[in-house]
Amino acid sequence: MTEGDSTLALEDRAGRLREIALEVQGCTKCDLYKTALKGVPGEGDPNAEVMLIGEAPGFHEDRQGRPFVGASGQFLEQLLASVGLQRKDVFIGNVVKHRPPENRDPQPDEIAACMGYLERQLAIIDPKVVVTLGRFSMNYFFPGEKISRIHGAARRHGPRLVLPMYHPAAALHQGNLRRVVEEDFLRLPQVLAEAKQQRTQAAASEAEAPARVAPPTQMKLL
Ligand code: URA
Repeated sequence: MTEGDSTLALEDRAGRLREIALEVQGCTKCDLYKTALKGVPGEGDPNAEVMLIGEAPGFHEDRQGRPFVGASGQFLEQLLASVGLQRKDVFIGNVVKHRPPENRDPQPDEIAACMGYLERQLAIIDPKVVVTLGRFSMNYFFPGEKISRIHGAARRHGPRLVLPMYHPAAALHQGNLRRVVEEDFLRLPQVLAEAKQQRTQAAASEAEAPARVAPPTQMKLL
């Protein structure tokens, strides 16, 4: 994965995200564009400290070209509100940017074809915390892991903390998961505080590190 570029100015970030959004609208890297109505590149604050990554657009997202605007989106907004956040404060994206027919699972070749967009979005936004929603986005960061094992516990991934959660739609379909998702989400402020502290510490140790001195060149013995 590309390292985040925290040095990009806000307008550069916004401009680069707009370029990606345009590319997604015209994307033909896999066959999903043939059955989808609109690409759903993702949206939110280009400078967000928190980025949420879902699976793929569903029926409503496909119509509107916006992520999480259906029933799971409403639940996601409630979850954000529970920690004092709104959609505009975060960036919301998906692993796959076009809707799979009948909301089937995205296939490995579709995920692979689309991955470059997510990697570029991550590098541009450089969020301190990523919340993965469901197993497809969790798998990108932690391949082979099980969501039932690692949900709710943040782990470091490169320069950021990743907090894996069940997909909001799973919580809507299985009532017993709703409380689990709500409780996991309440950990977000603490995880963000830790991520900020780790970044500050990393910047301080970088500043303190002795300047790397070039090795002395061997004197030529005449
Ligand atoms: N589910 C997702 O994973 N993403 C969306 O954008 C909507 C529903």
